[in-house]
Amino acid sequence: MNQGPWTEIDAQHDWYNLPRSAPPKRSATERVADFLEVYGDYDEATAREQARRCVECAEPLCVSGCPLGNRIPEWMLLTAEGQFLEAAALSRSTSNMPEICARVCPQERLCEGACVLNGRAEPVAIGAIERFINEYAFAHGAVDPVPAPPNGMRVAVLGSGPGGLSCADELARRGYAVTVYESQPTPGGLLVNGIPAFKLEKSVVARRVSLLEKRGVVFKVGVTVGRDMSLAELQLEHDAIFLGFGAQQARPLGIPGSHLAGIYDALPFLVQKNTETPLDMPPIDVRGKRVAVLGGGDTAMDCLRTAIRCGAAETLCIYRRDRANMPGSRKEYDNSIEEGARFSFLTSPVSLLGDAEGRVTTVRCVRMELGAPDPSGRRSPRPVRGSEFDVPVDVVLTAYGFELVPFPPGSDLAMIKRNDRGEIAVDDQQMTSVNGVFAGGDLVRGPSLVVHAVRDARRAALGIHRYLSHRRLFELDADQTDHLSPELTT
Ligand SMILES: Cc1cc2nc3c(=O)[nH]c(=O)nc-3n(C[C@H](O)[C@H](O)[C@H](O)COP(=O)(O)OP(=O)(O)OC[C@H]3O[C@@H](n4cnc5c(N)ncnc54)[C@H](O)[C@@H]3O)c2cc1C
Ligand code: SF4
Repeated sequence: MNQGPWTEIDAQHDWYNLPRSAPPKRSATERVADFLEVYGDYDEATAREQARRCVECAEPLCVSGCPLGNRIPEWMLLTAEGQFLEAAALSRSTSNMPEICARVCPQERLCEGACVLNGRAEPVAIGAIERFINEYAFAHGAVDPVPAPPNGMRVAVLGSGPGGLSCADELARRGYAVTVYESQPTPGGLLVNGIPAFKLEKSVVARRVSLLEKRGVVFKVGVTVGRDMSLAELQLEHDAIFLGFGAQQARPLGIPGSHLAGIYDALPFLVQKNTETPLDMPPIDVRGKRVAVLGGGDTAMDCLRTAIRCGAAETLCIYRRDRANMPGSRKEYDNSIEEGARFSFLTSPVSLLGDAEGRVTTVRCVRMELGAPDPSGRRSPRPVRGSEFDVPVDVVLTAYGFELVPFPPGSDLAMIKRNDRGEIAVDDQQMTSVNGVFAGGDLVRGPSLVVHAVRDARRAALGIHRYLSHRRLFELDADQTDHLSPELTT
């Protein structure tokens, strides 16, 4: 605890005397036996107490640390006073899925990482309080939507990940008739077919989808746009379009031996073990096996923890940088360790070796050291000469990140311009190179975060609203001047 000249002033604040307390968490032994969520909710007294740790800064850094600019100090004050429904209403005013962001945001890099208490004490538990107030609002029936009066315009939302769902929500609130087209049988995108249930239970996503349905949003699932319907057909039937296809194509491993049996991409593995979504592939069996996961992001840790729940004998994460430079969430790293996963940092796979039947048996690795920081600020790893060693394995899961899935061959989606990195290019209103077609989420920024997809979608919905409002004004003007002679209208 801080003992400097500020001690007297600090002592007047609740954070000085009240330590941060984590929400209830199931023991590692209990939770590896199922896929249920790891964390529970605060009780009312703890939520109020924890909210009182907020110092109500005049210029709150947590608000700038949150990509949605959530009004955190305001809902902290309401929570501290026990006005939970008012706090939740305020949190919903800047976020379309606060109960989901509260569960999956890497808070230590966002709102909580920016909290002014850091360095003097533990930050305010923003994520846990956001989750508490919103679950409280659901439990008290305070989230039921009232459909907005129709404004006569139609928008197609393509893809139902957090980007698509948030855009649909924002537009439905403004009276647009929204239809969501989704290629999978269940809406939710990676919230369902990626992020495992122990981080985000499927029922939480289904509850959000059903709220949208109550708001009047129509879901058409099992429709792959570009194959079953063209962009041109959708443009004929709708006034504007939002693209939220995400980026779900696995980046290639690019080392010798990648073709061997027993090597799988992360996403099909996670989908097979975490969902009912049918996949055209045989079951991946990890029971009693030694599983190596290649990569160091959230997906890698989700694979380790899913493999543990499926009975793997050993799970090892192989990652080329050190722990400090690992992109995955710190909280989920700690959870992985508690559940029995092991990590080999500063290690890079150079090849995969197999047996006579062509099954993978070994990951050949090289030790790495960190050099100068790259343009992203992270230190670049380089191999240590002569440091190769072998890791015996039965199954390898690859989690090297994602890129855009190519559009179906011959699709008119291909006319939409891309940036240098191959992602869909948008302007500051999220509009693509095609008039009236907007985009957001992983499709425009590459693999990112749920909260970033929500932010893009909110901006796109506003862009669509402005675009269509201008168009309507223009059409009204034209209608009113139809009866005038041509010389008066030019
Ligand atoms: C395993 C894993 C774990 C993750 N963990 C976290 C985490 O803990 N926290 C976090 O913030 N982020 C996490 N992420 C990242 C996060 O899930 C994504 O950034 C986010 O889901 C992107 O949202 P989106 O709406 O852009 O796309 P997606 O969620 O990818 O949704 C895109 C949707 O579009 C549909 N679609 C694609 N093409 C078509 C088509 N042609 N026609 C119709 N539909 C189509 C897809 O089926 C999908 O449902 C994780 C990602 C993965 C893979
Ligand atoms: S949306 Fe994410 S970053 Fe923003 S307050 Fe909630 S948990 Fe923090």
